[in-house]
Amino acid sequence: MDLEKTLLRKVGQAIERFDMIRDGDRVAVGLSGGKDSVALLEALLLLQKRAPIHFEVCAFTVEQGKFLAPIAPFGDYMKERGVEWLYVRDEPSFKLIEEQPDHGCDMCSRFRRRAVYEIGKQMGANVIALGHTADDFCESLLRNAMYTGRLSALPAVTWSAKKDFRLIRPLVFVTEEITRNYAAALTAPVIPCGCSQKTGTVRRTLRDIFGELEKEHPYLKENLLSAMGNIQTDRLLDPRYLPADAGGRAEPAPSNGAELFPVVMEL
Ligand code: SF4
Repeated sequence: MDLEKTLLRKVGQAIERFDMIRDGDRVAVGLSGGKDSVALLEALLLLQKRAPIHFEVCAFTVEQGKFLAPIAPFGDYMKERGVEWLYVRDEPSFKLIEEQPDHGCDMCSRFRRRAVYEIGKQMGANVIALGHTADDFCESLLRNAMYTGRLSALPAVTWSAKKDFRLIRPLVFVTEEITRNYAAALTAPVIPCGCSQKTGTVRRTLRDIFGELEKEHPYLKENLLSAMGNIQTDRLLDPRYLPADAGGRAEPAPSNGAELFPVVMEL
């Protein structure tokens, strides 16, 4: 189907451009229960058959106490697909919910990261594939620029702190419109997450802004992704990346606009 071709083309482009998967890798896909990670798993299984290199694919799910439905249908689906899948109930996360119900995303992510690394080790994986999409990259770029004063999004490829795992995000060029339609066509089970934080104000606002602008400019996210790969450092304000005769200096840039423009910020 066309949707599948589009998905595979975009995932293939990301894998190739960022050298995400290498010969002999064992890739563990983090399944969150949502449409994005299921689409990612299916794409990797299909690409595995066509790739000129050999790599293995397995999958896992960390239960942090936020699923709204039983996970069993997911297990059945994995069995049908012949995929090795590990489901782990992360007890420290459950304790966190009990003791600090209002914990934020930072702490939740830290707990998840620790659990993911333990599972990756248990499964013998050296690569962990995460289901962040083009939408996540675009939202992250705007969120960081507008709310934290940094021009950054997410890394397409990065490493765990001890370099045990390469962390990859092969859906970087895939929008959620594609994963939504693809997961629906697969009739894969989607286990909803009931986390009260996932529709935080900033995220919701950015999604609304995108939704509104995309009515007139349907390729907005594609353009933002292009921009992330086409940086004109001499037209930004970080002296580390400016020519020496145009204000360039080795020292780090100020961390936010308030240091640069205190009067403007006070107004
Ligand atoms: S939205 Fe909820 S589940 Fe996701 S990272 Fe934040 S606290 Fe954790």
